[in-house]
Amino acid sequence: MSTFKDLGLNEDLLHAISDLGFIKPSEVQEKAIPILLESETDLVALAQTGTGKTAAFGFPMLEKIDVDSRTTQGLILSPTRELCLQITNEMKQYGKYCKGLNVVAIYGGSSITDQAREVKKGAQIIVATPGRMKDMISRRLVDISKIQYSVLDEADEMLNMGFKEDITDILSHTPDDKNTWLFSATMPKEVATIARKFMVDPQEITVGNKNESTSNVSHEYYLVNARDRYQALKRLSDANPDIFSVIFCRTKRDTQKVAEQLIEDGYSAGALHGDLSQNQRDMVMKSFRNQQIQMLVATDVAARGIDVDDITHVINYQLPDEAETYTHRSGRTGRAGKTGISMVIVSKSEVRKIKSIERIIKKEFVKKDIPDGADICEVQLMSLANKVNTTEVNHEIDGYLEKINSLFEETTKEELIKKFFSVEFTRFFNYYKKSKDLNVQASQNSRDDVQYSENSTRYFINVGSRDGFDWMKLKDFLKEILELGRDDVFKVDVKESFSFFNTDKSITPKILEFFTDYKYEGRFVNVEVSEDRGGRNRNRGRGRKDDGGKRRSSRGGGEKRFSSNKSGGNSSNRRERRNSEFSGGNRSDSRRSEGRSEGRKPRRSDSSSGEFGSSRPRRSRR
Ligand code: AMP
Repeated sequence: MSTFKDLGLNEDLLHAISDLGFIKPSEVQEKAIPILLESETDLVALAQTGTGKTAAFGFPMLEKIDVDSRTTQGLILSPTRELCLQITNEMKQYGKYCKGLNVVAIYGGSSITDQAREVKKGAQIIVATPGRMKDMISRRLVDISKIQYSVLDEADEMLNMGFKEDITDILSHTPDDKNTWLFSATMPKEVATIARKFMVDPQEITVGNKNESTSNVSHEYYLVNARDRYQALKRLSDANPDIFSVIFCRTKRDTQKVAEQLIEDGYSAGALHGDLSQNQRDMVMKSFRNQQIQMLVATDVAARGIDVDDITHVINYQLPDEAETYTHRSGRTGRAGKTGISMVIVSKSEVRKIKSIERIIKKEFVKKDIPDGADICEVQLMSLANKVNTTEVNHEIDGYLEKINSLFEETTKEELIKKFFSVEFTRFFNYYKKSKDLNVQASQNSRDDVQYSENSTRYFINVGSRDGFDWMKLKDFLKEILELGRDDVFKVDVKESFSFFNTDKSITPKILEFFTDYKYEGRFVNVEVSEDRGGRNRNRGRGRKDDGGKRRSSRGGGEKRFSSNKSGGNSSNRRERRNSEFSGGNRSDSRRSEGRSEGRKPRRSDSSSGEFGSSRPRRSRR
């Protein structure tokens, strides 16, 4: 194993490296730096983020440019503003003893005039996102006609994000004889094409296998019913009290919803997606970097360029459409020599995707069980015990000791310990004592009618195909108006003038409440709990049959209302009937008990910030 000195770096850089505390070169640095220092060559390097690749191209670029000249000599293109700023920052740190060095970041969402002014001062190195760079070239605010080194960082991400034309355009303004160094985590066809187009006999280095995920990340999957996804996520978090994670969802809407639910349930979470303003995204990222947010819920696009060390877990709340995207997701953990865990929550229909991901990352997943309540209580208890054990005594407490001691005069040490821990443990214990097993056995029938009937409610709704619905449209419609997640409505069965659908039992009160007063196209919609279980004889439930939509107006004042249920009647009657049907006659009781099952995290009080409290204690960087 060589040292940074062995790689041939100059004293200024070695000095900065020592300040940064880097002891030895990482694999990509060991492979890339000597090649780039010794020869004027193009290079293709396959390396994940977190492997130290910024320094792998940064050190040689800093060594090779002439800091006495004000001409722009190096250009680094990166896919996102976050990454652009990160690289700029790293380059400045690496080059802090290179007198006269000026590294300038160029990215969208910030004043173009200010950036142009910085460039004009004489920037030897520009780090840029493609969109803003192209803009500045067309306005003649930068001159890259004399650059000698160009870096395409996270080339696969840039192409994924549709920057191919911008990159082509930008490179057309650079000299043909420059060197191009391309860094990419994966090598899809598009990246190979770019390499062929812009590079001459590039040398190739690979850290790990192509497309392979980093070796210090372990991969786990958890098989649950789709509608239990969110509960599974909470349990995974509760079973890892020190989690510092990115949770990936597929859509902006799901991302926002999961983050909101987590916050509502007392977790320290934040959302990161494209519907947020740049300012909002910056704030979330700042809180995440400071570890004030433990769970960052993000879309793939928004998470590009997240470059935060110490992420302990990546949780795939939903799998990505492209298996390659999984490599990027899991690469957010296990960085800078640390280990990490990438977890996937899957339903039965998605298990086959795990196999194709395994082929791509060349690693096997371990199938694990979602921890049960007892496991979680134990983990939380031991975490608290460890924290107590390692807590430094605050001597401000000394003044109160006499009073406290007199309170516990009769209490033995063992009793005191039990009492102390019961304060926290009982809340968690009560919360989880009736929790169900969320795991689905691989051999279990995926439609799983027993589970459906036990844990879900089937509803009758008096809209059907003649109202323009098919099962997909009705599902989307319900999800939209009720603000539910993609898996929350299932078993949708559309008839001509009415339909059936299922939701988890826990949201039944919400659904019925909503439909006491909901109008669709000017008419009231009627939703009731059905006895039909969604099996083969779906229409048997109430002896109801599709009557072709004979709708009776049942409300005074001439309001039209959908009412194909035989026992129709006014809304208060309906409410009474529902109450007796499914909640033992007391609506608010049913809601209270719903809150006790896995709803919010157990809280001491809403202002509490105890171990299991509403807002988790702010974490200091580990
Ligand atoms: P990168 O892959 O360039 O995003 O680097 C990931 C992190 O590793 C950054 O925080 C770097 O500062 C850090 N890093 C880079 N090289 C080394 C090294 N040789 N030893 C320790 N940390 C490093």
